[in-house]
Amino acid sequence: MSRINGFVGRRNFLLGVAGFATAGSLLWYQRQTSILQADADTNPVNPHPVTATEALKRLLEGNQRFVERERKYPNQSLKDVQLLAKGQYPFAAVLGCSDSRVPTEIIFDQGLGNLFVVRVAGNVASDMAVGSLEYATSVLGSQLIVVLGHKKCGAVMAALQEKPAPGRINSIIEGIKPAVARVRLSKGENAIAANIKYQAEKLKSQSTILANLIRVGKLQVVSACYDIDTGKVIFKT
Ligand SMILES: [Zn+2]
Repeated sequence: MSRINGFVGRRNFLLGVAGFATAGSLLWYQRQTSILQADADTNPVNPHPVTATEALKRLLEGNQRFVERERKYPNQSLKDVQLLAKGQYPFAAVLGCSDSRVPTEIIFDQGLGNLFVVRVAGNVASDMAVGSLEYATSVLGSQLIVVLGHKKCGAVMAALQEKPAPGRINSIIEGIKPAVARVRLSKGENAIAANIKYQAEKLKSQSTILANLIRVGKLQVVSACYDIDTGKVIFKT
C-alpha cells in the first residue's frame, strides 16, 4: 500500500533507500524494512498528509497564540486520547533542547499527536536522535523537522568552557564542540545560532533516509531559536 510520507510505498521506499546504501549495509536495511513494515501496519494511512509549508504555518500560528496568551490548548481531550490510540500522524518533528523552559507542545500551542518531539540537552543530533527523526519522517510521514535551540542554553555555554564536564554530561558537550569551534574561528558569531545550524546540517549529512526525503521534496529541515525572555520562536529557513 502506498502510504509512506505520501509519495511511495513503505517497502518500495526502504528498498529505494537501500539502493543508495553500500553493499555492506544492505542487510541492515533489509532487516529494518521488515521491522518498520510490521510496526507501521499498526498505524493507519494518513488521509490528510501535511506539507512542510503548512506545518511551518501551524507552528508559527501556535507560537503566536502562546506569546499573545491566546492559547487554544488543542487536541487534549479524552476523545483525542482514544482517537490517537488508532494511529498517529504528527504534522512536524522537532529536535529540541531538554531545558525545562522550552516545552515544545506548550510553546507551539499543540496537543496530543501533533508533534514528534526529540529532546536532548543542547538539541544534539546524536545517533538516537537521528534514528528517531528518521522514524518520524519515513514511517509516520512528518514532512518538516525543526531543529529548535534557545537563548541561554546551558549545554552550549558548557561547551564554551575549556574544562571537561563530569560523567556522561561530557558526551553532550562533545556533540556541541564542533559548533563552538566554528564560533572561535569566526569571532562574533553566536554560539547558540552556530549550534542550531551545526545540528541541522548533521541531520542532513549523517542520514541517508533524511537526505533522500529532502531530495524528493518530501522533507524540509529548518532551524529555529526560542527566546526564553519573550516566548517567541524565530525561524530561519
Ligand atoms: Zn538548552
